[in-house]
Amino acid sequence: MRTMKPVATLTAPVLETTLAARTAPELWRYVLAQEFEVPAYLEEQPDGWQPVSWQEASGRVDALANVLLARGVRHGDAVAVLARTRLEWVLLDWATMLVGAVVVGLYPTSSAKECRYILEHSGAVLAFVEDEEQRAKLDSVRDTLPQLGEIVSFDELPALETEGAAFRASQPDAFAAAQAAVHEDDLATLIYTSGTTGPPKGCMLTHRNLVTAAGRAAKHFEGADMVVLFLPLAHSFGRLVHQVAAYHGSTVAFVADAARVQEAIAKVRPTILPAVPRVYEKIHANVLGEIERSGGAKRAIGLWAIGVGSRASRLRREGKPVPALLRAEEKIADRLVFSKVRRRLGGRLRVGISGAAPLGVDVLEFFHSLGMLVIEGYGLTETSSSTTVNDPDDYRFGTVGRAVAGCEVRFDTDGEILVRSDTVFTGYYKDPEATRAAFTDDGWFRTGDVGEVDADGFVKITDRKKDLIITAGGKNIAPQNLENALKASRFVSQAVVIGDRRPYVTALITLDWDEVNASGREPQALVEELVGVVNKDRVRVEQIKRFAILPRDFTQEQGEVTPTLKLRRKVVHEHFADEIESLYS
Ligand code: AMP
Repeated sequence: MRTMKPVATLTAPVLETTLAARTAPELWRYVLAQEFEVPAYLEEQPDGWQPVSWQEASGRVDALANVLLARGVRHGDAVAVLARTRLEWVLLDWATMLVGAVVVGLYPTSSAKECRYILEHSGAVLAFVEDEEQRAKLDSVRDTLPQLGEIVSFDELPALETEGAAFRASQPDAFAAAQAAVHEDDLATLIYTSGTTGPPKGCMLTHRNLVTAAGRAAKHFEGADMVVLFLPLAHSFGRLVHQVAAYHGSTVAFVADAARVQEAIAKVRPTILPAVPRVYEKIHANVLGEIERSGGAKRAIGLWAIGVGSRASRLRREGKPVPALLRAEEKIADRLVFSKVRRRLGGRLRVGISGAAPLGVDVLEFFHSLGMLVIEGYGLTETSSSTTVNDPDDYRFGTVGRAVAGCEVRFDTDGEILVRSDTVFTGYYKDPEATRAAFTDDGWFRTGDVGEVDADGFVKITDRKKDLIITAGGKNIAPQNLENALKASRFVSQAVVIGDRRPYVTALITLDWDEVNASGREPQALVEELVGVVNKDRVRVEQIKRFAILPRDFTQEQGEVTPTLKLRRKVVHEHFADEIESLYS
């Protein structure tokens, strides 16, 4: 048995919340009872963004729930949804959970084989698909899925909702009875984690897990918030955001096409933006690139403004006064540069929340300089995405914030983060062995992430346990630190640091070719210079000795990044084995 020294237990007081709900039906009833006046959702139609009121959403969820009951879906049955981030997804999410069935999300980017695995493993009895392309994917594997009763396209939903209304007329008490049978310990969803090795594992999240997580993100959302949601709903971060928004009566605008996020932001003008780091990195890189390319006086002004913003931002974060001269300069910088960037992001952004992977401090500082707060939160699917988060009124860059209310966090002797909370899952579906391995003997969930905590309770993720590099010389190196430093450059798209059981550290680098080409610089020399800067403050064994520039970026299609754009190191290592070997030859 492993010995475990409780280095620290961070238990925040439970926030005062009006949410007594412990199940999705209770949460839904609570939300509807608030009679929020702002729309529940915004849906993009050919003629612009159209509001969907809570009343309309409620009517449609009610009809869909009756459809499920009419189709024979029962308590505990799995119902799959294969779609991008769209209104229908969340309506089906509510309807399925309200009748006590189990929601299983599939990624539209997944292959037919991957979808088949999850449909079979979860035993899904019904699948909803967004369009013909997704239907064809499931049709191709349907013969091998005897339990899958039906595949329903979103196109068919309006007609089905009518059918649902007819079912309700014939069995008026069925829906209420199904809701009443839902218990907080019942399974609400199976979220398959895009494991970095082996087949995905189905995280069993109960109603209590999900609803508790939704109630705990209290400080970030406000009643009249406008949220742009493009995060995949098959992932726990997207699902959490949607439920938190519902709890607070914020409006959620769905963006199905990730390539159109910036356009949607400019149109919808969100006040809160939950996103993965890549979105913030991209905005940062674009702005810096534009300044560089503008040349002459414009470039000089842009760089001056960024410098002014950065100095003022640092003083503010250190709690020091900003001298009058700097404040005056900041005003000019704001008028000439910052306000334009803010306007491009809609001009109303109150807070950006970054999660799912680490975000470099440079990028956080950049947004702060512009007068836009981006803060990091941390969680896993296994903890319903909710573990630690920075508070907009009390945050620290470079950390993932403090433990959320009611969540206990402590550290194993090797620094692994351990969690105990009502949001922690009950285990991996049909996998007791993996479930056992995920918990300590006394019931703490092992996150697999390594971290540390400062005196004020702010947690810093230093690496993932399994990603740690141990060089041939026996030195432990956290690749994420080096990768983040490389990615802080606007020229770098992705970076993977290598060195496990190798004599020295190397890096695979993919470039943002638009930026490189626009700069007119020679790529090899450019990266050499960057690596030199990254190496400068590091001890010799941690320095990147050699690097390779890859001809293309990592993609989801090739399986090199997950749908939330996390690196799958093993796949990258396999796909670029030759390039890696050449770095050690
Ligand atoms: P998932 O279950 O797909 O949500 O992945 C959870 C993993 O994402 C965690 O174990 C972390 O390794 C990583 N992660 C999530 N949020 C952060 C963050 N803010 N910083 C660094 N890593 C993160």
